[in-house]
Amino acid sequence: MITALGGGVGAAKFLKGISLVLKEPLTVIVNTGDDIQILGLRISPDVDTIVYWLSGIVNREKGWGVREDTFHCLEQLERFGVETWFRLGDRDLAIHFYRTYLRDNGLTPSEITDKVSKAFGINNIKILPMTDDDVETWIETDKGEIHFQEYLVKKEMTPDVKGISVKGIDKAKPAPGVIQAIEEARGIIICPSNPIISIGPILGVKGIREALKRTAAGIIAISPLIGGAPLKGPADRLMRGLGLEVSSAQIARLYEDFLDKIIIDEKDAIEVDKIKSMGIETVVTDTVMSNDEKAEQLATRILRLFEEMT
Ligand code: GDP
Repeated sequence: MITALGGGVGAAKFLKGISLVLKEPLTVIVNTGDDIQILGLRISPDVDTIVYWLSGIVNREKGWGVREDTFHCLEQLERFGVETWFRLGDRDLAIHFYRTYLRDNGLTPSEITDKVSKAFGINNIKILPMTDDDVETWIETDKGEIHFQEYLVKKEMTPDVKGISVKGIDKAKPAPGVIQAIEEARGIIICPSNPIISIGPILGVKGIREALKRTAAGIIAISPLIGGAPLKGPADRLMRGLGLEVSSAQIARLYEDFLDKIIIDEKDAIEVDKIKSMGIETVVTDTVMSNDEKAEQLATRILRLFEEMT
């Protein structure tokens, strides 16, 4: 069994690629720190992005949401003067209604994710939220503390980042199956996801980091940086805000205590020596997954590396 840890778009693109070549079970442990309550609906953006990519209905241009979705419901809501900065499409709304309805009936996020995955015909990849407890990532900015989604979507990443707090993380327990998926895997992949707000919260859930340190599985990360910058999103702003260097060597350092290998982009080849000095092996290749074939090639490369490691 292979296990992956990931957030939204970077992880989903890679998972789509690996789903096309994989011949064994794969479990993905997904960040839920991006979750938010909007107009009474519980939204779990990273889980939904992965579901939309794997089921093939994603809007690939945006990287999230449903392809050819419309926004009639939001347009009507605008009449009432409610905030509509979080762009919920008409088709997309169905998953949020369903999740909220099931939550109100006492189902846990992992039970809900299982139902949603099955409804979308996702059978070869088991999607596990990192925890069934509610956690939310908030960003401390020069203008006060705001939810990560407000920072990302409403404020378009403009406020200066002073710090990050993942609310509820201290009490969050791993969802059923999470620790087992780490312990029993033959290979573990840290997807090319934001290290601070996607992988960071997963590693913050009690017991997950320790399980990664003690597992016998080989652990390989894919850096989400290309030429020292993210393809999209706030990884650089968040890393800088926390006083971290924005580099693939820094990504390796964040995972240094459990990582065996890191795949970095050829535009970052200069980082190899720095990473080597941490005792982590580097593989340099083109990591830009501009289509499914490229994601598939990257996945095949990683599966081969696992074979060499055993
Ligand atoms: P989010 O929650 O939707 O922001 O998604 P993630 O945390 O999973 O991914 C965000 C990161 O994915 C960004 O830092 C991107 O640079 C990275 N990313 C997106 N596409 C690619 C890709 O094709 N290759 C690599 N190496 N990284 C990517």
